[in-house]
Amino acid sequence: MNQIRLKALAKINLGLDVLRRKEDGYHEVKMIMQTINLHDQIHIRKIEEEEIRIRTNLYYLPNNENNLAYKAAKILKDEFDLPGGVSINLKKVIPVAAGMAGGSSDAAAVLFGMNKLYGLKLSMQDLMDRGVKLGADVPYCIMRGTALAEGIGEKLTKLPAMPKCHILIAKPPINVSTKFVYENLHANDLKPEDHPPVDMQLEALRHGDLEKLVANMGNVLERVTVPAYPVIDEIKQMMVDCGALGSMMSGSGPTVFGIFKSYTKAKEAYEKIEQSGLSKQIYLTTPYNQREEMK
Ligand code: ATP
Repeated sequence: MNQIRLKALAKINLGLDVLRRKEDGYHEVKMIMQTINLHDQIHIRKIEEEEIRIRTNLYYLPNNENNLAYKAAKILKDEFDLPGGVSINLKKVIPVAAGMAGGSSDAAAVLFGMNKLYGLKLSMQDLMDRGVKLGADVPYCIMRGTALAEGIGEKLTKLPAMPKCHILIAKPPINVSTKFVYENLHANDLKPEDHPPVDMQLEALRHGDLEKLVANMGNVLERVTVPAYPVIDEIKQMMVDCGALGSMMSGSGPTVFGIFKSYTKAKEAYEKIEQSGLSKQIYLTTPYNQREEMK
């Protein structure tokens, strides 16, 4: 086996709560993660030269050791003393710095792909143990599907699959700093009523109840991001006006998603947002749930 092609899938947060800021500055979170069928394409090829080459279709992404795909390849190359090198081609589709774990998912796919390419026989847990060194979201991107993430996001519990629906994604053309959002949340001063009802969502998932799941969606980080960037609320409102069961910001933003039962309504919302000019990166997709392997 000399090469492998992989899909690195994006995620959204159906619920995102921050429980507290710890003494070390990290935040303890409680999030419901959902993989969606929106993906980067990754091609890994063995080369004779002792190097890790990265090529991407986005000029502003690092193509050196700062790329998460590079870091993932390096971890396995060093640990197993792999001969030669790899050339990694990344076709980015997942919006960058958008709260959709794009970089983490690329890293997860590279770990998974190198494991196969070199026949390392590492288990999913082995890969997750290495992935967490690259970022708190990487183990989840290896696990995929519907999951509860606790701790700093690395403690994972598999959940029943999200019921079938259509998911509309729209990323407004603004840059949001994750650091800015967490620092301005003042997590330890939040009142009980500020926390979204994540436990109700867990119950909804157990009953396969899409309406209840969506009715209880909440992202505590919207408290910081939405006042700073009102376009997020405008897009949310547009999705709801077009018939979304609910709409929310993913991660620390600025990506907004809407959950629809009807494909027709989701398509209408897509067109409305496109015409409004509020977002140029719009995708209509579905939840990814199959327990199939990364292909
Ligand atoms: P999260 O949802 O985990 O917060 P994110 O969507 O906010 O992730 P990413 O798209 O993963 O953020 O990228 C954040 C930064 O990481 C980018 O500004 C980019 O410079 C850097 N980066 C390094 N490698 C990659 C990669 N393979 N894809 C995207 N960004 C990368």
